[in-house]
Amino acid sequence: MSTYINGILQSIKQSNGDGVFLQAATEVLQSLEPILKAEKKYQNHNVLERLVIPEKTSIFRVVYTGDDGKAKAHFGYRVQFNSALGPYKGGLRFHPSVNLDVLKFLGFEQIFKNSLTGLMMGGGKGGSNFDPKGKSDAEIMRFCQAFMLELSKIIGANTDVPAGDIGVGGREIGYMFGAYKKITNLFNGTLTGKNISWGGSLVRPEATGYGCVYFAYEMLKKAKQSLEGKTCAVSGSGNVAIYTIEKLQELGAKAVTISDSSGFVYDKNGIDLELLKEIKEVKRGRVSDYAKLRKGSVYTEVKKYTKGTNGVWSIPCDGAFPSATQNELNLNDIKTLYNNGCRFVAEGANMPSTLEAINFMLDKKDFLFAPAKAANAGGVATSGLEMQQNAAMTQWSFKEVDEKLHRIMKDIFYNTYETAKEFKYTGNLVVGSNIAGFKKVADAMIDQGYI
Ligand code: NDP
Repeated sequence: MSTYINGILQSIKQSNGDGVFLQAATEVLQSLEPILKAEKKYQNHNVLERLVIPEKTSIFRVVYTGDDGKAKAHFGYRVQFNSALGPYKGGLRFHPSVNLDVLKFLGFEQIFKNSLTGLMMGGGKGGSNFDPKGKSDAEIMRFCQAFMLELSKIIGANTDVPAGDIGVGGREIGYMFGAYKKITNLFNGTLTGKNISWGGSLVRPEATGYGCVYFAYEMLKKAKQSLEGKTCAVSGSGNVAIYTIEKLQELGAKAVTISDSSGFVYDKNGIDLELLKEIKEVKRGRVSDYAKLRKGSVYTEVKKYTKGTNGVWSIPCDGAFPSATQNELNLNDIKTLYNNGCRFVAEGANMPSTLEAINFMLDKKDFLFAPAKAANAGGVATSGLEMQQNAAMTQWSFKEVDEKLHRIMKDIFYNTYETAKEFKYTGNLVVGSNIAGFKKVADAMIDQGYI
């Protein structure tokens, strides 16, 4: 690593500590070395020093009334990281693990991901340490309204357009949109992920999962392989996991696992998607409920895997789709996957693989790795399409949006692949996606002056 990059990482460590933001910045900055060497303007304009500091960070208190009549207090955050390419854009996460470090990592990744989509969107991320699990509908609604009371002061259709993420789906977006409208007296495209009947886009719920599979499809095709007949392990059981499984099945692959933070299910006959949707989307249940109802499937509790291994990756497969959360696939996991025959990973979640696991995958000549910021960009790309439809007060058909999504994912694949090749890292899509995403943002920052 060059002393220049090392110096920037040290400054992040000093101001932010040794957390996931530093991990994400290390991955990105290290892989930018080839372009920094080739084009001196980025260092001359101190682009990296500026890029690693969010333009604005807001932290606020969110108080709502629980069903027990008591006041509940949580942190609310919005990290508006970079607006060189357009309004800040990125999801809201409601999960007890949310803190500023997590949101800085997610917002930072979002800058490059949004750039890769080719749409005019800056990068941001927000959320709260509120845990929606086990809360009543009324509590969720009151929390969303309280959260929006503050968030509405800093977002807007041309300023900052939040969407969903972990713990924030269509229901939460609906409650937040209702509150935003009431507070501001505006009905506009300030939030994406809206219900289709009042301004949402078809395919948005499916987009991240579908997009990740489209990316894997293109990556395998380039390597003269196909998804057809492949057995795949998928982690998570939320939005991304469900629609990854749906598209895998459509393309002739068999997804055999799902998981949540309590455990994982192995269903050797292939996941029953209808049952999974019923349990997760209608009943808001757990993957253990799936195993109770599905003959031949096996549930394993997470505590059985305490020695640095995530159980879901112990299942033999041809390819893996981590779709739950950050750092859920470590060096032990990838070694197990590889020894069991797995030869590709496509990341649906944000930064699900640790740096050690990524290096392991990149070192193997017979392994294909699709990094998150390219492979899971389908969600935000379709949010961009939702913004376009809102601005034109129109609505496209499912087929139209799905075709655009597939085209965008194919373009992202070839953009990252060709960029890696140009810098003599053929096949290394980490380098390809980071450089391709960075170049567009960095050039815009230079064009827009020191601000
Ligand atoms: P959901 O809330 O719908 O589902 C998240 C799933 O991951 C749940 O099954 C959840 O289990 C599991 N999970 C969350 N945290 C942990 C943890 N610490 N350990 C084990 N399992 C965990 O979220 P999404 O599907 O929307 O998001 C999944 C990932 O995809 C995230 O990394 C997100 O940032 C990323 N992503 C999402 C996009 C989208 O459009 N939704 C777009 C791009 C990226 P449990 O219920 O037990 O918590």
